[in-house]
Amino acid sequence: MTAAQWTALRYFARANRLSRTPSAFSAFHATTRGTASQTVKSLVALRFLKGERSQEDGRSVRFDLTDAGRAMLRADPLHALTAVLDRLAPGDRAHLLGALQTITAQVAAGQNAPVFGSCADCRHCDDAATGAFCRCAEAMLLASEMDALCISFAPKAGMRLVADR
Ligand code: SF4
Repeated sequence: MTAAQWTALRYFARANRLSRTPSAFSAFHATTRGTASQTVKSLVALRFLKGERSQEDGRSVRFDLTDAGRAMLRADPLHALTAVLDRLAPGDRAHLLGALQTITAQVAAGQNAPVFGSCADCRHCDDAATGAFCRCAEAMLLASEMDALCISFAPKAGMRLVADR
């Protein structure tokens, strides 16, 4: 597995249904659509990803991890890093997270690229009595999707993410 293949496998495991496309992955990975498509194709050839035509628009193809892809992810070499991060004091973890959010958001803003985030912090998310609703996708959100990465994420007003620091 190359570094790009590992990044793609992690991305498709964490992204929501709007974002599990090669073009969204190209934005996340700051690479061209062609390069992102080649990486996705290589993971399909390895049987770690499988594609399915979108039920929403019938044109785009959405990719999901296969059982083999999930098994591969359990052997992710980054687990060594996350184990170390888990042992940091909560305050240190929060500072590190804030710094990384600022850095990635400012780099994305400088390149006019989207900032990825999840529903709880997104201004498109309406909390309805029956569950959360995404005004961008005009669809109800499943509880399992609320923490997923989304390419259409728009930070809530007042969120200290980008150049407002
Ligand atoms: S509420 Fe925001 S983060 Fe959630 S699916 Fe909609 S656009 Fe994406």
